[in-house]
Order: sequence, then structure tokens, then C-alpha cells
Amino acid sequence: MAGKSEGPAIGIDLGTTHSCVAVWHHDRVQIIPNDQGNRVTPSLVAFNETERLIGDAAKNVMAINPTNTVFDAKRLIGRRFSDPLVQRDVKQWPFEVVCGANDKPMIVVDYKGQKKRCVAEEISSMVLTKMKEIAEDFLGFKVKNAVITVPAYFNDSQKQATRIAGIISGLNVLRIVVEPTAAAIAYGLDKMFSSSDKKNVLIFDLGGGTFDVSILTIEKNTFNVRSTAGDTHLGGEDFDNRMVNHFVEEFNRKHKMDISGNPRALGKLRIACETAKRNLSFMLHTTIGIDSLYKGIDFECKIARAKFEELNMDLFEECIGHVQKCLMDAGMDKERIDDVVLVGGSTRIPKVKQLLQDFFDGKELCKSVNPDEAVAYGAAVQAANLAAQGCDEIRDLVLWDVTPLSLGEAIVGDEMSVVVPKNTKIPTKKERNYITCRDNQTTVPIEVHEGERPRASDNILLGKFYLSGIPPAPKGVSKISVCYDIDVNGILTVTAEDRTTGNTNSIVVSNVTSILSDDEIERMLKEAETFKLEDDELRKKFEAKNSLENYVYRIRDIVLNKNNAGEFPYSEAKKMEDKIKSTIQWLDENRVTEIDVFEDKRKELESMWGPIITKF
Ligand code: AMP
Repeated sequence: MAGKSEGPAIGIDLGTTHSCVAVWHHDRVQIIPNDQGNRVTPSLVAFNETERLIGDAAKNVMAINPTNTVFDAKRLIGRRFSDPLVQRDVKQWPFEVVCGANDKPMIVVDYKGQKKRCVAEEISSMVLTKMKEIAEDFLGFKVKNAVITVPAYFNDSQKQATRIAGIISGLNVLRIVVEPTAAAIAYGLDKMFSSSDKKNVLIFDLGGGTFDVSILTIEKNTFNVRSTAGDTHLGGEDFDNRMVNHFVEEFNRKHKMDISGNPRALGKLRIACETAKRNLSFMLHTTIGIDSLYKGIDFECKIARAKFEELNMDLFEECIGHVQKCLMDAGMDKERIDDVVLVGGSTRIPKVKQLLQDFFDGKELCKSVNPDEAVAYGAAVQAANLAAQGCDEIRDLVLWDVTPLSLGEAIVGDEMSVVVPKNTKIPTKKERNYITCRDNQTTVPIEVHEGERPRASDNILLGKFYLSGIPPAPKGVSKISVCYDIDVNGILTVTAEDRTTGNTNSIVVSNVTSILSDDEIERMLKEAETFKLEDDELRKKFEAKNSLENYVYRIRDIVLNKNNAGEFPYSEAKKMEDKIKSTIQWLDENRVTEIDVFEDKRKELESMWGPIITKF
């Protein structure tokens, strides 16, 4: 646990499309703006010939460098390449993803003239590093401790992969918290100090890439998650994709050309569609206009809100289906929900709000929390709580989370034997006893799965290990007990014990499934350090370049003013003007040359111009 001496702990909402960082500072939560003054930062990383860009800087080059601008790392994290959802995404993305060792998806980009392969954890770690730096710039000192949020429906390996991304970025991850719980804290914070009423709250969190719905009971300072449902692959980007596909067809119809295989055209179209989607949240019609979309052809096309809704209606209805499921799992009627809280940028879509309101028989939806900031807000409160910072009420906060999916193992006939049922309060420890199923069986395989399907192989395989050394005996005689221990972070350790000999074997399941070995994590940590050194070097280059540029422009102003005032000989002014022009041209052509080249040039100009300026 962090102590006060280590500085404030921050809360980071690591979103699919945007991330947000917050901190408990001066007795309140502050959402920290980035260097552009924006309170959310795009979760994007771009690579080019000379540098790596993160956040807004990466977004600015997305249209011109689509194959090397990586987004959606959150959709890849903790997943296997062969996962059908990954296969579907890979077809839509302009950047390349290939299959690496152990079925791990590898993102391939061109960086400094070479092919670079990285895993989703590395991309997410770069975004986290950016968020950490934003906080450090704001607070004025180094930040070490953080709480990072993940969707409630993230499985064990996705949570663990996110934790590893945090470690690579140099953070001490105090806890991985689920997004709806964080949002509920933002909702309940002011209420919990003032009211002792018990409230059932439904958090409807529809973001850029994921959808979560959770039901919590809030009573004073205790937040009890009752049930959770959702889809880690449903959100604003799916709505964008539907519109992109619609316009690809439209372009084909108009111009008899298929642009679906052209990453640059698709990149431009995706950006335009996202803007159009946002516009349609407050307008009934909008137009997308893209200069030179493909082969020099400009593209302009109208779209109505009704068309957008028609393209996505099945996805919107899917969201309502998850709400129903969540209520069922919590054993509650919808009448028992006191407040429905909207979180995530996509809850601004009017049709989504209308469907939800209709489902709750016209109930007013709660808009008291900022949908873009609520998760980071709650994460900052939780970070303060874990670091024993903040006021008394924050320190007394109690959070009870649940397992989003059932956990269990494969037994004879590929049956899923559930040990920890879905929506069990965590931390938890549950034990189950088994017997050997063959005569003289000396080894028992333990295959840990996560999911709701009755057939184990239809669920997600989290890990496998063996309990061996069982003394030979007729089948059914030897007894094996298996214990599932889930800690406060939702991280699972499974231990198997032979009851006759006391022999045990165990795994921390997530360590197995993250598919990243300690060596690989070590390599990534080193690379992150190299990136940091390169970034620092680049920053220094920019400073040297800016210093030269500012100097040249300052001299130009002085010469211009003095010349206009007739205080400067024309021949001198002309000579200087020519040199200024050639230096500006040189600067345009040499934006990232070596630091000492910029510095030498500045010194040369200072020694040449200094005496002239002081003379006249
Ligand atoms: P989040 O993950 O919460 O940052 O949500 C980001 C998603 O919200 C992106 O897909 C955005 O396109 C979407 N979004 C943001 N504002 C709006 C809006 N006004 N209407 C529709 N979608 C929006």
C-alpha cells in the first residue's frame, strides 16, 4: 500500500478511445487537463520516421499515417489472435496485426525506418505513461501509485494484461477497479456524506469500445456490486464501423470503386463518420465531406439520424438485453432501481437514451455525473482511499465487487464444474472436492475455465496445471480438493491438494494466461525506458530548434521595425533579411536534426547579428 510520502495516487480511466486521469487534490477530485487543455486524451499511439506520438499529437496525424497509428489496444489486450472478435477487428483496422508466439496478437508498425512489433500491453503502457506525465506536469512532482480501471466484463487475463501495461509504464498499480464501480463512486460521493438511505443504482456505461451494466447498492460509504453484465466488444466504434460500411457501399454505388481495402481512405472515412455520429446526437441530419477520399475523388454525402439509428438498432437493442440480464442476475425488478446513471460518451446518442428510458417505463435518467469523467473521478477517489489519502469519508470507503463470470474446471465429459458462480462477492475463497475417475490414477489435470457455457471447452481457458504424485488406488478412492482464491483485484489463484498425501500444486491463473513471460515484461520495461530517453532527446531537439526559430523571428521583427523607422541601413537590412529567409527555409527542411547543429547555428547568428543590432 502507498503511503503519504509517495505523493498523491492517481486514478486513470484507460478507455478504448479516450483516457482520463484524475487526482484527489486540495480536498476534492480534480480531472487533470492534458498539455492541449483537454480533459480527455485519445488512447492513440503513432509511429513515424523520427518519433513516437501519443494522444492528441497522434490523433492529428491519424489521417495521413493510418497504417502506423495504433488505436483500440484495449480491444486486443489479454486476447488471443485466433479469438473471432480479434479476427473481425483486424479486418477493420488500417494497421497490421499478426499472430505471434502463443497465439498472441502482435501489432506491426514502421518506426524509424524499421518494422517494429509490439503487443497490446506495450501500446496501453504508452498511453498510461502519457497519462502519468499529464498528472506529473499538473502536480509538479513524480507520480508512482495509481488505480487503473477496466470494464466490469473484462476476464481475468484482460485484467492482468492491463496491470502489466501499468507496470511497464512505471506505475505501481494499487488496484484494478471495474469502471461501473468507479462511476458509482462518482455518482454516490456527495450523496454518501449526506444520506443514510439505501439506494439501488444501475450504471449504464456505453463507451467507445465496451459496454458495461452494473447494479450496485449504495448505503452510506459502502458500495456493493450486486450484478454485472455487458460486452467487452460493443461501443461507439461499432456504431462508427456501421456508418463506415454504409458509406463504402455508397461510394461504390456512386463511383463504381471499392475502397474497402484502402487503409488511407478508410481512415479518413472513419474520422468523418465519428464526427457525423456526434453531430447526429443533436441534429436530425448531417453531411460528411471528404476532399480527395480516393483517387482524387471528393466525397460528400448526407446522413439522417434515422438512418444512423437503423444501421445500429440491433446493437442498441443488445444493450437493453444486457440491462435485463443484469436485473435478473441481481434478482431485482426494474421498479426497485432508484437511479439509472449514464456513463460513457456513447450514452449521448438519443436513441440509446430513449430505449433505456422506455425500458424503465419513462423514468428520468440521472445526468448528474459527467459521462466522460465519472470513471476517472471514481478511480481517483479509490486511489486516495487505498493510499490512505483524502478526507475521513474517503478513507472509510468500502467497495465490494463481484466476479463477472463463473469460474470452474473441466471434469469428465468436458463438463464445466463451477466453483465460483458468476456475481460472487470478492475477495472470496471457495473449495470443491473431487475424486479420481480412473483406477491407479496418479496425475490429475486441473483446467481452469471462465464462462457460462455448460461445456468447459466452450468457455475461456484461463490456465492448466497438474497435480501429480497421487498414490495408485482404485478409482474414486483418492480425494482431491481444489481451492479458488480471488483477491481484491479479482486475481485468481487456484490450488489443488491431494487429501491423502497433503501434496499441493497451484497457479496464479492470470500469470499463465497473460502469455507474457517475466523476460518479456523485463524487455518491455527496458524498451519503455529507451522510449523515455528518446522522447527526452526529442524534446531537447525541439527546444533547441524552437530557441533558434524564436531568435530568428525576434531579429526579423527588430530589423523590420528599425527599418520602417529609418534607423537601419537598407543594405544591412537586405543582407539580414536574406539570411533570415534562408535560415527559416533551412529550419523547415531540418526539423529534427541534432541538438548541437541547432545550437551552433544559433551561436553563429548571434555572433553575426548581435553587434549589428546593438550598433543601430
Ligand atoms: P468513452 O469511451 O466514454 O470516452 O466514449 C467514447 C465514445 O463516445 C466514442 O465512440 C465517441 O465517438 C462517443 N461519443 C462521444 N460524444 C458523442 C456524442 N455526442 N454522440 C455520440 N457518440 C459520442
